[in-house]
Amino acid sequence: MEIKKNIAEIKKSIPENVILVAVSKTKPIADLQEAYDGGQRVFGENKVQEMAEKFDALPKDIQWHMIGHLQSNKVKYMAHFVNLIHGIDKLKTLQEINKQAKKHDRVISCLLQAKIAKEESKFGLSFEEIEHILKSPDFQELENIKIVGFMGMASFSDNQEQLNEEFASLKNFFELHKKNTSTNNCQLEILSMGMSGDYPLAIKNGSTMIRLGSSIFGSRNYSS
Ligand SMILES: *Cc1c(COP(=O)(O)O)cnc(C)c1O
Repeated sequence: MEIKKNIAEIKKSIPENVILVAVSKTKPIADLQEAYDGGQRVFGENKVQEMAEKFDALPKDIQWHMIGHLQSNKVKYMAHFVNLIHGIDKLKTLQEINKQAKKHDRVISCLLQAKIAKEESKFGLSFEEIEHILKSPDFQELENIKIVGFMGMASFSDNQEQLNEEFASLKNFFELHKKNTSTNNCQLEILSMGMSGDYPLAIKNGSTMIRLGSSIFGSRNYSS
C-alpha cells in the first residue's frame, strides 16, 4: 500500500504537465503491479534485459522508458516495445536504435543526455556535442528515431545553488533549440530532469519529466 500512497502524494504535489516516470529498476514485479494498480503507467528501467522481462510479465498499456546508459548491442532486445530512451550520448547509438526500430517498422523516441553535473564521472554530451549531432547529415537522415528532448542529471550534492545552476543551464539550452531546431526527426518537447533527491528544484527549473525511484518504491539494496 505504501507504493500507491507514495505515487498519489507525489502526483498531488507536482504540476499536471509534469510526467512522472516510476523508476522500478531492481524492484520485483509485485511492486510494479502495485504501482500499476495505483494508476501508474510509465516505468523506467536501466537494464534492457530486466525491462524486457518486466514487459513480458505486466499489462501491455505500460509505457517503458530506458533510463540507463545503453550499450548498442542491447538495443535489439527492446526495439519492439520501448517507448522512450533517455540516456543517449552517441550518434552511433542512435544509428543502432534507428536500424532496430526499422526492423519493427517503428519510430522510437529518444532524449539526448546532456552533461550538466560538474562531477567528472557522469555520462552525457556537452552542449556543443549535442549541436554537432543535431546538425550532422548522418543524424538528419535517420528516419526511425526521433529526438523529442533532452535528459540531464545534476550533481549528487546538497548545494542547492549549484543544482539550480545545473538545471537552469539545461533549461536555457532546451528553450533555445526548441525554437531554432526543426528537422523531421527532431522536435523538442520533453525535458527530463529530477530524481527523488532534487525533483522539486528540477520542476522549478522547467522540467517536464521526473524520474523517481526511491521516493516511490523505497531505497534499493544495491545502487545502480
Ligand atoms: C536510478 C535512477 C533514477 C532514480 O533515482 P532515485 O534517486 O531513486 O529517484 C533516476 N534517473 C536515473 C538515470 C537513474 O539511474
